[in-house]
Amino acid sequence: MRYVSKAKAEPAALTARRKLSVAQGGTYEALEKQPVIKALMRDQGYLCGFCMRRVELFERDANGKARLSKTASNNWPWKIAHWQPQATNGPRSLDWQNMVGACRGGDDPDGGHGPPRTCDTLQGSAPLRVNPHDRSTIAQVKVRSARPGASPKPGEVVIAGYELYSDEPVIHDDLRLRLGLNEGYLPDNRKSAIEGFRALLRDRCPRHATLSAAAKDALVRALYDEWKWEDQAKTRLRPFCGAVEILYGL
Ligand SMILES: [Zn+2]
Repeated sequence: MRYVSKAKAEPAALTARRKLSVAQGGTYEALEKQPVIKALMRDQGYLCGFCMRRVELFERDANGKARLSKTASNNWPWKIAHWQPQATNGPRSLDWQNMVGACRGGDDPDGGHGPPRTCDTLQGSAPLRVNPHDRSTIAQVKVRSARPGASPKPGEVVIAGYELYSDEPVIHDDLRLRLGLNEGYLPDNRKSAIEGFRALLRDRCPRHATLSAAAKDALVRALYDEWKWEDQAKTRLRPFCGAVEILYGL
Protein backbone atom coordinates (compact mmCIF):
# COMPACT_ATOMS: atom_id res chain seq x y z
CA MET A 1 0.00 0.00 0.00
CA ARG A 2 1.20 3.52 -0.69
CA TYR A 3 -0.15 7.04 -0.44
CA VAL A 4 -2.28 8.03 -3.43
CA SER A 5 -3.10 11.69 -3.99
CA LYS A 6 -6.66 12.55 -4.92
CA ALA A 7 -5.65 16.05 -6.02
CA LYS A 8 -6.50 15.54 -9.68
CA ALA A 9 -10.04 16.27 -10.81
CA GLU A 10 -12.68 13.62 -10.30
CA PRO A 11 -14.45 12.25 -13.39
CA ALA A 12 -17.24 14.50 -14.69
CA ALA A 13 -19.63 11.53 -14.75
CA LEU A 14 -19.21 11.17 -10.99
CA THR A 15 -19.79 14.87 -10.29
CA ALA A 16 -22.91 14.83 -12.44
CA ARG A 17 -24.28 11.70 -10.82
CA ARG A 18 -23.81 13.09 -7.33
CA LYS A 19 -25.90 16.16 -8.20
CA LEU A 20 -28.93 14.03 -8.92
CA SER A 21 -31.46 13.03 -6.30
CA VAL A 22 -31.91 9.32 -5.62
CA ALA A 23 -35.21 9.45 -7.52
CA GLN A 24 -33.39 10.95 -10.51
CA GLY A 25 -30.77 8.18 -10.44
CA GLY A 26 -28.20 9.71 -8.09
CA THR A 27 -27.03 6.32 -6.88
CA TYR A 28 -23.83 4.32 -7.06
CA GLU A 29 -25.67 1.55 -8.91
CA ALA A 30 -26.61 4.00 -11.70
CA LEU A 31 -23.10 5.46 -11.94
CA GLU A 32 -21.20 4.90 -15.19
CA LYS A 33 -18.19 3.04 -13.80
CA GLN A 34 -15.70 3.16 -16.64
CA PRO A 35 -14.62 6.83 -16.40
CA VAL A 36 -14.24 6.36 -12.65
CA ILE A 37 -12.08 3.28 -13.07
CA LYS A 38 -9.94 5.01 -15.68
CA ALA A 39 -9.34 7.92 -13.33
CA LEU A 40 -8.47 5.52 -10.48
CA MET A 41 -6.01 3.68 -12.76
CA ARG A 42 -4.42 7.01 -13.72
CA ASP A 43 -4.01 8.12 -10.11
CA GLN A 44 -2.76 4.71 -8.89
CA GLY A 45 -0.36 3.99 -11.76
CA TYR A 46 -2.34 0.87 -12.76
CA LEU A 47 -1.78 -0.79 -9.38
CA CYS A 48 -4.34 -2.11 -6.92
CA GLY A 49 -4.70 0.54 -4.22
CA PHE A 50 -4.32 -2.09 -1.51
CA CYS A 51 -2.01 -4.96 -2.51
CA MET A 52 -0.12 -3.12 -5.31
CA ARG A 53 -0.50 -5.83 -7.91
CA ARG A 54 -0.56 -4.68 -11.51
CA VAL A 55 -4.12 -4.40 -12.78
CA GLU A 56 -4.84 -3.67 -16.42
CA LEU A 57 -8.08 -3.60 -18.34
CA PHE A 58 -8.82 -6.85 -20.11
CA GLU A 59 -11.40 -7.93 -22.61
CA ARG A 60 -12.41 -11.28 -24.08
CA ASP A 61 -11.74 -12.21 -27.67
CA ALA A 62 -14.18 -14.13 -29.84
CA ASN A 63 -13.08 -17.39 -28.17
CA GLY A 64 -13.67 -16.07 -24.69
CA LYS A 65 -9.95 -15.76 -24.00
CA ALA A 66 -8.71 -12.81 -21.96
CA ARG A 67 -6.43 -10.26 -23.61
CA LEU A 68 -5.34 -6.73 -22.85
CA SER A 69 -8.10 -4.34 -23.80
CA LYS A 70 -7.29 -1.96 -26.65
CA THR A 71 -10.54 -0.10 -26.35
CA ALA A 72 -10.91 -0.23 -22.57
CA SER A 73 -14.56 -0.89 -23.28
CA ASN A 74 -15.15 -2.74 -20.05
CA ASN A 75 -14.01 -2.55 -16.46
CA TRP A 76 -12.79 -6.10 -15.90
CA PRO A 77 -11.01 -7.01 -13.64
CA TRP A 78 -11.01 -3.70 -11.72
CA LYS A 79 -13.23 -3.09 -8.71
CA ILE A 80 -14.21 0.23 -7.22
CA ALA A 81 -13.64 -0.21 -3.50
CA HIS A 82 -15.10 2.17 -0.93
CA TRP A 83 -12.79 3.01 1.96
CA GLN A 84 -15.87 3.59 4.07
CA PRO A 85 -18.00 0.68 2.92
CA GLN A 86 -21.28 1.44 1.23
CA ALA A 87 -23.06 -0.71 3.78
CA THR A 88 -21.93 1.50 6.66
CA ASN A 89 -21.82 4.87 4.89
CA GLY A 90 -24.16 4.98 1.92
CA PRO A 91 -23.89 8.74 1.35
CA ARG A 92 -20.16 8.37 0.64
CA SER A 93 -20.73 5.82 -2.12
CA LEU A 94 -20.43 8.61 -4.72
CA ASP A 95 -17.59 10.43 -2.92
CA TRP A 96 -14.41 10.49 -5.04
CA GLN A 97 -12.24 10.78 -1.91
CA ASN A 98 -13.75 7.52 -0.68
CA MET A 99 -12.95 5.48 -3.81
CA VAL A 100 -10.00 3.11 -4.20
CA GLY A 101 -9.29 1.15 -7.38
CA ALA A 102 -8.74 -2.48 -6.41
CA CYS A 103 -7.91 -5.85 -7.89
CA ARG A 104 -10.47 -8.62 -7.68
CA GLY A 105 -8.71 -10.03 -4.64
CA GLY A 106 -9.19 -13.67 -5.57
CA ASP A 107 -12.90 -13.63 -6.45
CA ASP A 108 -12.37 -13.83 -10.19
CA PRO A 109 -12.01 -17.38 -11.51
CA ASP A 110 -10.51 -15.93 -14.72
CA GLY A 111 -8.21 -13.54 -12.95
CA GLY A 112 -5.37 -15.97 -12.48
CA HIS A 113 -4.51 -15.25 -8.88
CA GLY A 114 -7.33 -17.22 -7.24
CA PRO A 115 -7.59 -17.71 -3.47
CA PRO A 116 -6.62 -16.50 -0.90
CA ARG A 117 -8.99 -13.55 -0.65
CA THR A 118 -7.44 -10.12 -0.33
CA CYS A 119 -8.13 -6.40 -0.71
CA ASP A 120 -11.70 -5.18 -1.20
CA THR A 121 -12.97 -8.73 -1.65
CA LEU A 122 -11.78 -9.70 1.83
CA GLN A 123 -12.66 -6.34 3.40
CA GLY A 124 -16.34 -6.64 2.49
CA SER A 125 -18.29 -4.29 4.74
CA ALA A 126 -15.64 -3.99 7.45
CA PRO A 127 -14.52 -0.40 8.12
CA LEU A 128 -10.81 0.40 7.77
CA ARG A 129 -8.56 2.83 9.56
CA VAL A 130 -5.65 2.60 7.13
CA ASN A 131 -6.44 4.75 4.13
CA PRO A 132 -4.34 5.10 0.96
CA HIS A 133 -5.53 8.73 0.68
CA ASP A 134 -4.41 9.70 4.17
CA ARG A 135 -0.66 10.13 4.63
CA SER A 136 -0.88 9.93 8.42
CA THR A 137 -2.24 6.38 8.30
CA ILE A 138 0.08 5.26 5.49
CA ALA A 139 3.00 6.52 7.60
CA GLN A 140 2.06 3.88 10.17
CA VAL A 141 2.43 1.00 7.72
CA LYS A 142 5.78 -0.74 8.09
CA VAL A 143 7.51 -3.57 6.30
CA ARG A 144 9.83 -6.26 7.66
CA SER A 145 11.44 -9.47 6.60
CA ALA A 146 8.83 -12.06 7.55
CA ARG A 147 11.15 -14.47 9.33
CA PRO A 148 14.44 -12.69 10.01
CA GLY A 149 17.10 -15.29 10.71
CA ALA A 150 14.61 -18.00 11.63
CA SER A 151 15.06 -21.57 10.56
CA PRO A 152 11.86 -23.53 10.02
CA LYS A 153 10.78 -26.34 12.30
CA PRO A 154 9.98 -29.63 10.56
CA GLY A 155 6.62 -29.40 8.84
CA GLU A 156 6.36 -25.66 9.37
CA VAL A 157 5.34 -23.42 6.50
CA VAL A 158 7.62 -20.43 6.38
CA ILE A 159 6.40 -17.15 4.95
CA ALA A 160 9.21 -15.80 2.86
CA GLY A 161 9.55 -12.24 1.80
CA TYR A 162 8.45 -9.01 3.42
CA GLU A 163 5.27 -8.63 5.41
CA LEU A 164 3.39 -5.47 6.24
CA TYR A 165 2.70 -4.63 9.87
CA SER A 166 1.93 -1.67 12.09
CA ASP A 167 2.55 -0.72 15.71
CA GLU A 168 -0.96 0.73 15.67
CA PRO A 169 -3.19 -2.29 16.50
CA VAL A 170 -6.21 -1.39 14.34
CA ILE A 171 -4.04 -0.66 11.30
CA HIS A 172 -2.10 -3.88 11.97
CA ASP A 173 -5.36 -5.84 11.83
CA ASP A 174 -6.52 -3.90 8.76
CA LEU A 175 -3.39 -5.00 6.92
CA ARG A 176 -3.45 -8.64 8.00
CA LEU A 177 -7.06 -9.57 8.68
CA ARG A 178 -9.26 -7.16 6.77
CA LEU A 179 -7.13 -6.74 3.61
CA GLY A 180 -5.06 -9.96 3.68
CA LEU A 181 -1.92 -8.20 2.53
CA ASN A 182 0.44 -10.86 3.88
CA GLU A 183 -1.36 -13.67 2.06
CA GLY A 184 -0.15 -15.87 -0.76
CA TYR A 185 2.68 -14.53 -2.86
CA LEU A 186 2.33 -10.92 -1.76
CA PRO A 187 5.29 -10.99 0.71
CA ASP A 188 7.47 -12.63 -1.96
CA ASN A 189 6.46 -10.07 -4.53
CA ARG A 190 7.31 -7.31 -2.09
CA LYS A 191 10.69 -8.90 -1.51
CA SER A 192 11.39 -9.00 -5.26
CA ALA A 193 10.61 -5.30 -5.55
CA ILE A 194 12.86 -4.43 -2.60
CA GLU A 195 15.72 -6.58 -3.89
CA GLY A 196 15.36 -5.09 -7.36
CA PHE A 197 15.73 -1.60 -5.97
CA ARG A 198 18.65 -2.58 -3.73
CA ALA A 199 20.45 -4.06 -6.76
CA LEU A 200 19.99 -0.78 -8.63
CA LEU A 201 21.33 1.15 -5.64
CA ARG A 202 24.41 -1.10 -5.48
CA ASP A 203 24.99 -0.82 -9.23
CA ARG A 204 24.72 2.93 -9.37
CA CYS A 205 26.58 3.65 -6.16
CA PRO A 206 28.58 0.70 -4.78
CA ARG A 207 29.71 2.84 -1.84
CA HIS A 208 26.29 4.18 -0.90
CA ALA A 209 26.67 2.75 2.62
CA THR A 210 29.56 5.14 3.27
CA LEU A 211 27.59 8.27 2.31
CA SER A 212 26.26 10.70 4.87
CA ALA A 213 22.61 10.17 5.81
CA ALA A 214 21.54 13.24 3.83
CA ALA A 215 23.51 12.26 0.73
CA LYS A 216 22.22 8.70 0.86
CA ASP A 217 18.65 9.92 1.25
CA ALA A 218 19.02 12.23 -1.76
CA LEU A 219 20.52 9.39 -3.82
CA VAL A 220 17.75 6.94 -2.84
CA ARG A 221 15.04 9.46 -3.68
CA ALA A 222 16.51 10.28 -7.08
CA LEU A 223 16.95 6.61 -7.99
CA TYR A 224 13.53 5.71 -6.72
CA ASP A 225 11.82 8.42 -8.77
CA GLU A 226 13.36 6.86 -11.85
CA TRP A 227 12.92 3.17 -10.91
CA LYS A 228 9.30 3.35 -9.78
CA TRP A 229 8.00 3.83 -13.35
CA GLU A 230 7.83 0.92 -15.73
CA ASP A 231 7.25 3.01 -18.83
CA GLN A 232 8.81 6.17 -20.23
CA ALA A 233 5.47 7.94 -20.27
CA LYS A 234 5.31 7.46 -16.48
CA THR A 235 1.83 6.03 -16.43
CA ARG A 236 2.51 2.60 -14.92
CA LEU A 237 4.12 2.28 -11.53
CA ARG A 238 6.26 -0.75 -10.79
CA PRO A 239 4.18 -3.35 -8.93
CA PHE A 240 4.85 -3.42 -5.17
CA CYS A 241 6.98 -0.26 -5.35
CA GLY A 242 5.23 0.92 -2.18
CA ALA A 243 7.32 -1.57 -0.17
CA VAL A 244 10.45 0.37 -1.16
CA GLU A 245 8.79 3.65 -0.15
CA ILE A 246 7.98 2.24 3.27
CA LEU A 247 11.42 0.67 3.78
CA TYR A 248 13.33 3.85 2.93
CA GLY A 249 10.79 6.30 4.38
CA LEU A 250 10.15 7.96 1.01
ZN1 LIG B 1 -5.31 -6.00 -4.54
